[in-house]
Amino acid sequence: MKRIVILGAGESGVGAALLAKQQGYDVFVSDGGKIQDSFLKELTSHQIPVEQDGHDEQRILSADEIIKSPGIPEKAAIIKKIREKNISVISEIEFAFRYKGNSKVIAITGSNGKTTTTALTYHICQLSNSDCAMVGNIGYSFARQVFTAPKSLYVVEVSSFQLDDIRSFKPNVAVITNITEDHLDRYNYNLQNYINSKFKIIENQTAEDVFIYNMDDATTINNITNRNIQSTQAPITMNRELPQGAYLTNAKMYLKWKEEEMKMSVEDFAIKGKHNQYNSMAASLAAVAVDIRKEKIREALQTFESLEHRMEKVATIKGVEFINDSKATNINSTWFALESMTKPVILILGGVDKGNDYNLLKDLVAEKVKAIICMGTENTKILEAFEEIVPLIVEVSSASEAVNTSFHYANKGEVVLLSPACASFDLFKNYEDRGNQFKQAVKNL
Ligand code: ADP
Repeated sequence: MKRIVILGAGESGVGAALLAKQQGYDVFVSDGGKIQDSFLKELTSHQIPVEQDGHDEQRILSADEIIKSPGIPEKAAIIKKIREKNISVISEIEFAFRYKGNSKVIAITGSNGKTTTTALTYHICQLSNSDCAMVGNIGYSFARQVFTAPKSLYVVEVSSFQLDDIRSFKPNVAVITNITEDHLDRYNYNLQNYINSKFKIIENQTAEDVFIYNMDDATTINNITNRNIQSTQAPITMNRELPQGAYLTNAKMYLKWKEEEMKMSVEDFAIKGKHNQYNSMAASLAAVAVDIRKEKIREALQTFESLEHRMEKVATIKGVEFINDSKATNINSTWFALESMTKPVILILGGVDKGNDYNLLKDLVAEKVKAIICMGTENTKILEAFEEIVPLIVEVSSASEAVNTSFHYANKGEVVLLSPACASFDLFKNYEDRGNQFKQAVKNL
């Protein structure tokens, strides 16, 4: 019996373990840290051997194949040893893909907008095909879905970490929403390594598969011209008309794919902002590429509800509007948040910096931001970047302090925007915790 070892027992690791067991492998799960109770129970109830708080090296190194959870970095000691022994290492999406049968896959990656585009694509698809599922970072892992309830269409959100260890993963439709600096700490601070891992999403595609990308994204375009791409290309843009793809001009979206043509006013999109217009174009094109009718696309774009922690309107108190964009964990998403602001902004920024270049925000900050509230344990880079531009910069160490301080300095008609451009692990459990604490603090005002 083939021995498979799964490193990491989070949602993707547990999903992979369940599927591997179902497919007749000898499975062992190993997690260097503590495993969440519910996951532990699940594994033991399926008679899957598991260890936590350490790795039984001998047992791991005797595996035929390893499924590595996306959170485990290449520099982890156990990974180095596995690589030295040349054991095949794959990611959970690669493993799930092997067992998906004839089902279709729409895979979505990018630096920003993955979750929004995935949720929107799913919303469109499930309006006309109920036999589909949304997997990846939202809800179930791909492997768990294949294990519990196989579908004829999967809309998969894929991170670059998941793409690093694919072999045969070949989505029918691949989307790269955009590429900007993020997670550089995991890629030796080398942007090209990160770009290459995003582009792995199309490496096995052939002409019958579709590749959707943003033509207005310089990094994407620079990397398309020097690659030998087999996929049928379907770009999106706001800068020109296209014979095939999706483009936006005079506040109207045009969708052109084979015989299908559709025109829709952006006023009718349920989700607002320039970034969401890109996301809407990408999702519509992905849906039309798997033969979803334009009537359904139109209906879905009108009814999609925006997601929590992404430009979420929390409340307006004494004329001061509070917006929760806690999911903005890099510069680019904060850039789009600021770009969409029409009132003076008090910006709550900071947290764990993953290699940010704050210069990219300087123009928008100078134009729109009247005060910055630094909410992190280490704020030096932010202070240095903005001290000459923004008259008021205050350091705080909790969400409630950030909200109270912002409110103190805010006037009627202004906006308090939590869009930190950083990860949250210094002061919070995760970005949801950060967003929830922010919302609670606003409610307490
Ligand atoms: P991801 O899953 O890639 O992190 P999300 O859809 O969760 O993306 O959005 C993350 C953040 O980026 C949010 O702050 C959101 O407002 C912003 N955002 C969403 N779509 C885009 C886009 N196409 N370009 C830039 N920023 C975006």
